[in-house]
Amino acid sequence: MNQITLPKLFNLGDRKLEPKFRSSFYMQDILSVDQFDKESLSYLFTRTEEMSEMVNQVGTCDLLNGYTLACVFYEPSTRTSASFIAAMERLGGKVIPITQGIQFSSVSKGESLEDTMNTLEKYSDLIVLRHPELGSVAQAAKYASVPIINAGDGVGEHPTQALLDLYTIRKEMSRIDGLRVAMVGDLRNGRTVHSLTKLLMNYDVNFRYVSPDTLRLPLNLMNDLINKGFDVREDDRVENVIKDVDVLYVTRIQKERFTDMDQYEAVKNYFEITTEVMKHAKPEMIVMHPLPRVGEIHYDVDKDPRAAYFRQVKNGMFVRMALLAAVLGQA
Ligand code: ASP
Repeated sequence: MNQITLPKLFNLGDRKLEPKFRSSFYMQDILSVDQFDKESLSYLFTRTEEMSEMVNQVGTCDLLNGYTLACVFYEPSTRTSASFIAAMERLGGKVIPITQGIQFSSVSKGESLEDTMNTLEKYSDLIVLRHPELGSVAQAAKYASVPIINAGDGVGEHPTQALLDLYTIRKEMSRIDGLRVAMVGDLRNGRTVHSLTKLLMNYDVNFRYVSPDTLRLPLNLMNDLINKGFDVREDDRVENVIKDVDVLYVTRIQKERFTDMDQYEAVKNYFEITTEVMKHAKPEMIVMHPLPRVGEIHYDVDKDPRAAYFRQVKNGMFVRMALLAAVLGQA
């Protein structure tokens, strides 16, 4: 039989996916803010500035051309999923989006997290994962051979939200040291509060925590703050702290974490930031929120220049661009 010789389809020397930078993020799973220190944060934020400049000047580039991100969300999301997708696409990469409801993936057929990870690693260079169970993303990282970024694991952590929160504080206030930061709302279940608290412990910050008694900051975090000598106080009324704070970080009551709906009903309208409340705040403070809001900040406050939550949303994409590029060795 005659041998058929096929023409070669690809010249693999054309474009190699070689890493250009081996920062401390290179090929690392990003599971917790505990992995960050002042130095790595400063590196990431410098890269973030570059991303922001690139987007403002030209919109997109091909830094991550040739890379594919799998974006897998086992819990609802608007900003985190959309901003990771936008970040990857603005850098010229491709996305496998499993964000439109896990009911359309094999998870709804009973597939294990292990098998899902073992599959997606075959198609992608990096996986962004949100999961309702605490510790599940760390578990998934053990299954996958490609890096995993934690996009929220139940009541555990939300490291990329905390990174964009910290970036926003730094950008808006031009410093972090010396600030008084108040976190308000569901401090027990709010993973963004947990991650931001840990990240801010790298700096000289005063902490104020405002919540109903049943939703106070977890004891381990509170003890950590006290043991490290931070100025930290708890209160149950925003009105008692608002006049002295530089950053008011507002969070929603996390309805989906309650097993007893009567308990949720008892606290759901616990507070609202209104224009009246804002009259007592400093002229140069900022109001932040990881969003979604469900009644904690009145829409009228949006017109106040101190309302930073939509600027915070925009920063999220830039921070995630920097992180994706750094993990893939391109920043
Ligand atoms: N979007 C944030 C999170 O996923 C905050 C929230 O849902 O309240 O944790």
